[in-house]
Amino acid sequence: MDLQHVKGTFDILPDGYLQGDTTIFPASNWTDAEARIRGVLERFNFEEIRTPIIEPVELIARGVGQTTDIVQKEMFAFRRGDDEYVLRPEVTASVMRGYLEHHLDQRGGVQKLFYLGPCFRAEQPQKGRYRQFHQFGTETLGTDDPSADAETIAAMLAIYAEFGVTNTTLRINSLGDADDRRRFREALRTFLKPYAEELSDISRQRLETNPLRVLDTKNEREQEILRDAPRLPDFLGDQPRRHFDEVKSLLTDIGIEFEEDPDLVRGLDYYSRTAIELESPDLGAQSALAGGGRYDGLAEAIGSAKRVPSVGFAGGMERLFVAMSATGVEPSPSAAPMAFFVALGDPARRAVFKLAADLRGAEVATGLDLRGRSFKAQMREANRQRAAFAIIVGDDELQNSAVQVKTMASGEQQAVAMDELVDFLRNLSAQG
Ligand code: AMP
Repeated sequence: MDLQHVKGTFDILPDGYLQGDTTIFPASNWTDAEARIRGVLERFNFEEIRTPIIEPVELIARGVGQTTDIVQKEMFAFRRGDDEYVLRPEVTASVMRGYLEHHLDQRGGVQKLFYLGPCFRAEQPQKGRYRQFHQFGTETLGTDDPSADAETIAAMLAIYAEFGVTNTTLRINSLGDADDRRRFREALRTFLKPYAEELSDISRQRLETNPLRVLDTKNEREQEILRDAPRLPDFLGDQPRRHFDEVKSLLTDIGIEFEEDPDLVRGLDYYSRTAIELESPDLGAQSALAGGGRYDGLAEAIGSAKRVPSVGFAGGMERLFVAMSATGVEPSPSAAPMAFFVALGDPARRAVFKLAADLRGAEVATGLDLRGRSFKAQMREANRQRAAFAIIVGDDELQNSAVQVKTMASGEQQAVAMDELVDFLRNLSAQG
């Protein structure tokens, strides 16, 4: 059989490797980045939620929207018995399901949740676009206050700032409320009808199913036609307009720059009012680092009797890494083992096995040779693993119950009694 990962997926290995046109960072960088994202979001008072990777297909179809590309073309869906499941293509619908299922509102107050984990979409893979990718994001559930929108944006930007990714453009828009969009949709449809013959098949189809999505077109002739089309901002009712003004004014208060983009409409149906997109010129065709907005209609769309006004964003790990590479920001180096044993001869190998257990028990990171190789090969291995110390044990050392501790950086070597080794290294490791 072919030993090949599934198209559009990748392995996260101990060392970086090149796959196609982009570097997938090594596992230690992922762990480090995830911890730093958690750190930033906890500073913003978000709590973690972990939901299953599989969800009922109906949740996603309703939550993400029947007319979206995700639901129509990109779901990894499968049937088992009478039930249909899908590998989640995003996490917002799952978080809302969890919130409703467990009545999280009963904890009182606004629920501020964050998540981190894999998502699946059967898109055409390319740089920054995969079939299994990893999203982090927040959901603030149970408030329609503009401060929640502004806080979401601030948290999102704080994450990218944490990694030195500041060459970004924040675009925002207001999609208004359902009524505003209905009136806009009708106006847009009326405007576009006479051009129907000139539209591409896909846009003609969208004109019927979801005219707002025609605004996403990359087709030049269609963009030209759209130049004179009605504009969403002209259809905003009083309340959505005031909401949007307040979001913008809060952002300005905390020094966040943004561009208003009346054409920013989101592919997902449940969005209302604030729409957010964070872009980087360093990403190429897949320019979106993160996106999000308000989704006051989602809870009801998935069957809640109650409206749960909410706002959130989602960002992609892979694109964060691409942006970091492009900016020249180095990911944090992987942790190297602190001590590496170099054992000469079988009795020494036995003794070292026990010493390594003691050190690990004392929380000192420790490596050892597992193949019975030569002194030179073991020293090379200590180097390759970037050990701070090589601990050399041979017959003499066994006889004297003392080991040779070699500081790799300086080459200095000193004898340390075996029964003092744990304390010796623990002290050094406490000193960093
Ligand atoms: P969306 O849920 O489509 O708004 O996506 C939010 C973020 O997830 C995007 O801005 C990307 O950073 C990331 N993302 C979405 N789809 C993919 C994909 N197929 N591959 C990699 N990242 C993705």
